[in-house]
Amino acid sequence: MGKSSKDKRDVYYRLAKEEGWRARSAFKLLQINEDFNLFEGVKKVVDLCAAPGSWSQVLSRKLRGESGQHDDVKIVAVDLQAMAPIPGVIQIQGDITKKSTAEEIINHFKGENADLVVCDGAPDVTGLHDIDEYIQAQLLLAALNITTHVLKKGGTFVAKIFRGKDVTLLYSQLKIFFPLVTVFKPRSSRNSSIEAFVVCQNYSPPDGYIPNMANPLLDHHYDVDFNQLEGPNRIIVPFLACGDLSGFDSDRTYPLQLAEGRAYEYHPPTQNPINPPYQAACQLRRDDLLVKPREGADYTAGASIHTVS
Ligand code: SAM
Repeated sequence: MGKSSKDKRDVYYRLAKEEGWRARSAFKLLQINEDFNLFEGVKKVVDLCAAPGSWSQVLSRKLRGESGQHDDVKIVAVDLQAMAPIPGVIQIQGDITKKSTAEEIINHFKGENADLVVCDGAPDVTGLHDIDEYIQAQLLLAALNITTHVLKKGGTFVAKIFRGKDVTLLYSQLKIFFPLVTVFKPRSSRNSSIEAFVVCQNYSPPDGYIPNMANPLLDHHYDVDFNQLEGPNRIIVPFLACGDLSGFDSDRTYPLQLAEGRAYEYHPPTQNPINPPYQAACQLRRDDLLVKPREGADYTAGASIHTVS
């Protein structure tokens, strides 16, 4: 979007830029916190799948304070992608399906466990709904697995889910570890999206449970010496829709709300991507290499592309 054109995109996108969040998803975590008071007493937190970092920004501002005054708070953010720095946030560039990543997180907490684990992980969607839901479920299970390594008993786990047709299996798996599981749809999450968030409270692993990285949906052998996943009952978990209707609806387009006499003010992105996929294409265009040379075509600087007869 150019600097002069008015920004007609959705209201949370605009608000994010005005308030300095790297992504509109910041509002999802803020709204989950409004209803669940997630941050109370939290000193150690893990942000899984954190890039570009708006959830880490929320954690940093809310837990450390606007000026970083609470310096006993530790926030560890993990993502496959590199992320620009955020005050007070330790970054790990790693894969949440790897045990070594869990170990690295624990090392940062000096062997202690986290009070809260959040995960906004999403794979690149293919558009094939069944496949997207399946891959998202796998990522959530990976997040749950790593959570069992790093979360303290009584702690909270929040994660993105896709409410597809087999989601009840996931609820059952979560209920093995958390007595209280709620599905929450923040109002900043588009109604048109099947995305929602599970808020799992009071982490209580089964007696004798030893965390491992076996993925129950992928690994059908269950060749670990426990099998809590046999025959879980179909569980219906409570669903909570966005608190009340007082806020913005993320599926509506709102006109710019400018005070009388105030002109539109351009807000640049809070944080440009550090390694955007379009960078290579821009470079190719700069070097005039974007179009395959054709015989007889005039590619001299400034010439429009046309074939010379
Ligand atoms: N919560 C983030 C924020 O507020 O800026 C946005 C997260 S974005 C929707 C999803 C992220 O999941 C991507 O950055 C992606 O790299 C990450 N991701 C996907 N699979 C992952 C994996 N196996 N390990 C670590 N990160 C992963």
